[in-house]
Amino acid sequence: MDIIKTDYKWNGTFVKRNETKYIILHHRAGNGDAESIHEQHLAQGWTGIGYHFYVRKNGRVYRGRPLGTVGAHCQGQNSCSVGICFEGNFETEKMPEKQIRAGARLVGYLLALFPSAEVKLHRDMNATQCPGKNFEFDKIRKEGENMSVEEAVEIIQAKSGLEDETIEFLLCYKYGEELVLKIAEAMV
Ligand SMILES: [Zn+2]
Repeated sequence: MDIIKTDYKWNGTFVKRNETKYIILHHRAGNGDAESIHEQHLAQGWTGIGYHFYVRKNGRVYRGRPLGTVGAHCQGQNSCSVGICFEGNFETEKMPEKQIRAGARLVGYLLALFPSAEVKLHRDMNATQCPGKNFEFDKIRKEGENMSVEEAVEIIQAKSGLEDETIEFLLCYKYGEELVLKIAEAMV
């Protein structure tokens, strides 16, 4: 999973998040880069961008605030969730195919790290239309759910350069899948 890092200037420090029950999906209700969300959220007096990830229409994925910290994206759920924002307004627009694919890969990657997390929409949690009626939830969630161990293997390969056979060998052990998921988590 190729996630682009941005060199944000934070206004303050973060609180470590102790549980991850949900992966919550949002739309931006607008367009622009990750830095522009960061600027908006700073202007609201926040520490910086409130989401953990941002998926642009071209399929590029950007990091927001650090993954292990409490976000600012969903009232009442920030201390137990990861927030992903998608560029666009899916109340009125259709999602580009590249963005759907990238979102599914990101969700799969996060489910590899947090296997018991549930994927939710912002509107499941708060009174909002976010992320809009045209948001491709089923495609993103189902494809994401189908690739968690595969994503973990991909992460380990990318970070460690281990051969396929070595990772397959690990997967054959008792608790092998858990081990692979844990190793991937440690490598993020
Ligand atoms: Zn939202």
